[in-house]
Amino acid sequence: MENPEISVVVPLYNEEQVFPVLIERLNKLMNETDLCIEVVMVDDGSKDNTAQLMYANALNDSRYQCIFLSRNFGHQRALSAGLAAVRGTEAVMIIDGDLQDPPELLFDFYKLVKEGNDVVYGVRKNRKEGAFKKLAYRFYYRFQKRISNVDVNLDSGDFAMLRRNVVDIMNSLPEESRYIRGLRSWVGFQQTGYEYDRPERLAGTTKYSYGMLFSLAYNGIFNFSEFPIKFISNLGVLAILISLCYFIYTLIKKFMMGITVIEGFTGLLFTIILFSGVQLISIGIIGEYVVRIFFQVKGRPLYIIKSKIVDKKIVKE
Ligand code: UDP
Ligand code: MG
Repeated sequence: MENPEISVVVPLYNEEQVFPVLIERLNKLMNETDLCIEVVMVDDGSKDNTAQLMYANALNDSRYQCIFLSRNFGHQRALSAGLAAVRGTEAVMIIDGDLQDPPELLFDFYKLVKEGNDVVYGVRKNRKEGAFKKLAYRFYYRFQKRISNVDVNLDSGDFAMLRRNVVDIMNSLPEESRYIRGLRSWVGFQQTGYEYDRPERLAGTTKYSYGMLFSLAYNGIFNFSEFPIKFISNLGVLAILISLCYFIYTLIKKFMMGITVIEGFTGLLFTIILFSGVQLISIGIIGEYVVRIFFQVKGRPLYIIKSKIVDKKIVKE
């Protein structure tokens, strides 16, 4: 396919159940319009039949470009692999493979891009998740916005359309620890949100374990903020101030009132335990930054491509 106008990037990990509907929806969308659209699918080391389905589809349809990673690298890196391969000359749309990000919004998003926006991101009006997860997401995004160095968009995931130059800039960023929605905010330019109802995943179960969600959340915080480090230094200063006050208080008690009884064993124990905890957490927080430096310094590639299908032809890496 020569110079498509728009590329749609879809990372897929064990999505064989959704795949047929995904293709159906994407085909319908592409057939409906005169816009020249390519779809870049990234197989993130699926263990089910997703890769085979991708193969069969892309060998028959040149509108589909497929990238097969050598193993599971995680959603954010799979996305990065897709973003690096796009050929769309005007804009790039990022969607989830489970159809939680309606691909049909492409037309509305593209209209906003044509009107001069460089980034159009989806804002989730309501989520169809459990009450606990919903609350956690709400709290997390607001907390992250407060402490972040960049203007983080509330309640938005990776669902977005980016102008081509924005994608080129994001591709050129050497960050090892990828947090795409953060990088997208970080680049700046004209950004606008688009509210939509986020449906439930069409089939199958979430491919994000709680562990992966936490690591994503950590990346959102530690990659874009020095707040945690500042926070622990402030806590240290506060602890010293409190202990100074207490010291003065005991001096006054001793010299002015003549009281020198030993008291407060429970209080002592409590303070020791509290500050041991604070110290451990502080070391952990510093560790988060150190580990990021550690992985960045290694300079390993973000992902490894096993093979590709471009214009119905298999390309081995
Ligand atoms: N995904 C991926 N690699 C992973 C985990 C997920 O490429 O290691 C893909 C997955 O196939 C889907 C998208 O990332 O297309 C979002 O994942 P999911 O819908 O499971 O996340 P949730 O919506 O539950 O947060
Ligand atoms: Mg999903």
